[in-house]
Amino acid sequence: MDVRVRALETLLVDKGYVDAAALDVLIDTYEHRVGPHNGARVVARAWVDAAYRAWLLEDATAAIGSDETFGFRGRQGEHMVALENTPQVHNMVVCTLCSCYPWPVLGLPPVWYKSAPYRSRVVIDPRGVLADFGMTLPPSTEIRVWDSTAEIRYLVLPMRPSGTEGWSEAQLARLVTRDSMIGTGIALDPSGVSAGAGAAR
Ligand code: FE
Repeated sequence: MDVRVRALETLLVDKGYVDAAALDVLIDTYEHRVGPHNGARVVARAWVDAAYRAWLLEDATAAIGSDETFGFRGRQGEHMVALENTPQVHNMVVCTLCSCYPWPVLGLPPVWYKSAPYRSRVVIDPRGVLADFGMTLPPSTEIRVWDSTAEIRYLVLPMRPSGTEGWSEAQLARLVTRDSMIGTGIALDPSGVSAGAGAAR
């Protein structure tokens, strides 16, 4: 794959179709600036701040993208909807048609998210897909699968793990995984993550 990408890039640069420096900026953006660490900050804020949580559920685009909050906005984040997980309802996100994904908060989608097996099976057998991810939910928990449209991008708001009382936003953000914001996972168990280290951001 590396060789193919290099060959393709060389050809495109030689022909003047793309600018190598511009490509480097794009790669740096999605490797370092934009990624699930953004979404994790949004979730952690919603966990500690009830007013923010209400705003996120009411108007996720504004709550995530406003300059007064995080300013996470841009392509594939223009129409955001936050889905709140509860003991009664677990939300999962897919794009059955292709690979639509909330880039400003999660970065680029993982390979499995774009794969035909995930896209088809999650709507037919969501519990089976969760089992593949090592997750079992109580039978009483309803699973809702949300299919991204041409415009709307979803962010799952996972449940805050118990045992995190008094944790700061920065500490909580470290429990929020990419998969927990897609709905193929849940937030990390705090007993496996030290609350002290790396709390400062
Ligand atoms: Fe898509």
